[in-house]
Amino acid sequence: MIRLLSVLVLILLILTLIRSFLVRLFGPPSERQRVPSRPPRQKVAGRMMKDPQCGMYVAADLAIQARTRDSLLYFCSTECRDLYAKARLEEAKR
Ligand SMILES: [Zn+2]
Repeated sequence: MIRLLSVLVLILLILTLIRSFLVRLFGPPSERQRVPSRPPRQKVAGRMMKDPQCGMYVAADLAIQARTRDSLLYFCSTECRDLYAKARLEEAKR
């Protein structure tokens, strides 16, 4: 009787092992490929431009751009752009 029980336990153990082996081989890909997959970030390649208002560097692709008569300026925010434009206007008035 005890012998039969130990055989059953052994079979169960083997089945469990086979199952986990099969799952590892053909299991859901999320188990295996989860590690390196990050959400693709917006690629911020390219130039870093200096915000002339606050002095911070911003990626040209993401910056607020403002064209002046002779150059293209890059700002970190619309606030900086507006402040800069205002300052230029004040300067021009003088
Ligand atoms: Zn700024």
